[in-house]
Amino acid sequence: MILKCSECGEGVKVPDDALDGELVLCEVCGTQFMVKVENGRISLSQTGEIQEDWGE
Ligand SMILES: [Zn+2]
Repeated sequence: MILKCSECGEGVKVPDDALDGELVLCEVCGTQFMVKVENGRISLSQTGEIQEDWGE
């Protein structure tokens, strides 16, 4: 599924079988999120770490 990045507003790809606590990265701005699964609903919480050299 695609969830919205709270930093840049772009879509963040999250695996449909993502587990609670899994880390995903916004490919656009490099913000890292932790997957939260509650009652079968998936949301993202920001970890505060920015991977500035991602893709270099
Ligand atoms: Zn982003």
